[in-house]
Amino acid sequence: MSRVLNLAAEDEVLDYCANETCGKEIYFGQLVTKIGHELVCSGKCLVEKIGAVTIIAGKGGV
Ligand SMILES: [Zn+2]
Repeated sequence: MSRVLNLAAEDEVLDYCANETCGKEIYFGQLVTKIGHELVCSGKCLVEKIGAVTIIAGKGGV
């Protein structure tokens, strides 16, 4: 039972991903990226949050 209690503590939601299209829960102890005072859950969300897109250089794209 103590193991279950430990998991409960670690599953505490601190914040939500600042990428509005994601919005996932950010848990205590999770590795996240901070932008100013906001947190995003992954590199992909960081890129979307700042409005960057990945394209192939020299192959066009908008
Ligand atoms: Zn996210």
